[in-house]
Amino acid sequence: QLTSGLESAWNKLRGVDVLTKENIAEPMRDIRRALLEADVSLPVVRRFVQSVSEQAVGVGLIRGVRPDQQLVKIVHDELVTLMGGEVSDLVFAKSGPTVILLAGLQGVGKTTVCAKLAFYLKKLGKSCLLVAADVYRPAAIDQLVILGEQVGVPVYTEGTDIKPSQIAKHGLEEAKKKTIDVVIVDTAGRLQIDKTMMDELKEVKQVVNPTEVLLVVDAMTGQEAAALVTTFNIEIGITGAILTKLDGDSRGGAALSVKEVSGKPIKLVGRGERVEDLEPFYPDRMAGRILGMGDVLSFVEKAQEVMRQEDAEELQKKIMSAKFDFNDFLKQTRAVAQMGSMSRVIGMIPGMGKVTPAQIREAEKSLKIMESMINVMTPEEREKPELLAESAARRKRIATESGKTEQQVSQLVAQLFQMRIRMKNLMGVMEGGSVPALSN
Ligand code: GDP
Ligand code: MG
Repeated sequence: QLTSGLESAWNKLRGVDVLTKENIAEPMRDIRRALLEADVSLPVVRRFVQSVSEQAVGVGLIRGVRPDQQLVKIVHDELVTLMGGEVSDLVFAKSGPTVILLAGLQGVGKTTVCAKLAFYLKKLGKSCLLVAADVYRPAAIDQLVILGEQVGVPVYTEGTDIKPSQIAKHGLEEAKKKTIDVVIVDTAGRLQIDKTMMDELKEVKQVVNPTEVLLVVDAMTGQEAAALVTTFNIEIGITGAILTKLDGDSRGGAALSVKEVSGKPIKLVGRGERVEDLEPFYPDRMAGRILGMGDVLSFVEKAQEVMRQEDAEELQKKIMSAKFDFNDFLKQTRAVAQMGSMSRVIGMIPGMGKVTPAQIREAEKSLKIMESMINVMTPEEREKPELLAESAARRKRIATESGKTEQQVSQLVAQLFQMRIRMKNLMGVMEGGSVPALSN
């Protein structure tokens, strides 16, 4: 299992201070093995391991986050990159009906996807027409008609005695007449890639000039996924893929190979047999699933919790002895900034609520200003903020040396004492307290 393989990789790095070529060698072998066992194809695994190793060497302990945890993050981010990074939306034609051509082997879920897509697009306010171009099995047409009824979308059929490309062509004409937004063409699949299937798809593609050619891939497809995607992409040219049956216990290999071998993203995933079981493909969630950490966001959060805990313990001691100083202030604000810059987890940090990128930039800017003032303080001043509260001359010197105004320095000093009070209150050490009036 991928999860346990990766877990043993992380465990080997417990207690390590810095990641080196030597100490990551064994964990990287575990990762490699785990990926292969998850049915990721070998060339993809090689490139992946290489890239992760390069990024990992030299990574050391950053406040509260151990190197092994950071390696998880590196692996996660690389997985996300491998899968295309961002969500890839469906593309719609600028004018006239958008044609979506579905391709794939038999039984992967193409016909089901037709109905799911129609249901999905209806929610986006688009009208759809399903076109039954699988002429090999009459039952396939019936299946599509029933599904169409179920989602309340018309189905265009012409029986089985006519070429799929002609059905598709007529279906498109019908959609134009009725000003329908999206035409979804269901096609026949085979158990294996064969020339007839490819030729037929090529012909349909040529006749209807689709906006999207989506390869439907069963998530359970193992190692062969890479070859399958490559062949379809070379033969007919795909614009993306839909990964189905993700509700089963697939090992994720197919998801990892699609983008890497074809350059085309997975756009949607199917998670069940019902028409509503279709959703956008989120590379980061998939990476989380593959890492077996449920959701890697919660990992990052956990790492930050550790950071907060360690800080909190240390802080508590300081506060007990009323020693929270500018050094701690710097550490605290930096920790907060670090959390802040991970924009993806922002929403998850308790107490931060919804933070906009503009707010983050603003916070980072004010942090830089604070840092530049703290940087020119003497060690003594950093440890004894009272010195600055008591001496206007010191504050003036800091203002001059840091290129800030005296008012900004006063503000910083006041902020520190405010923080002391807030923390004391937070810890229930004492109530009240006040910011000392700054002397002139
Ligand atoms: P096609 O041959 O590619 O058209 O495949 P179908 O759409 O007929 O689906 C084949 C079988 O897979 C059917 O029994 C579907 O109900 C089932 N199926 C399709 N998509 C999913 C999915 O996302 N999850 C699960 N569990 N079953 C699915
Ligand atoms: Mg079918």
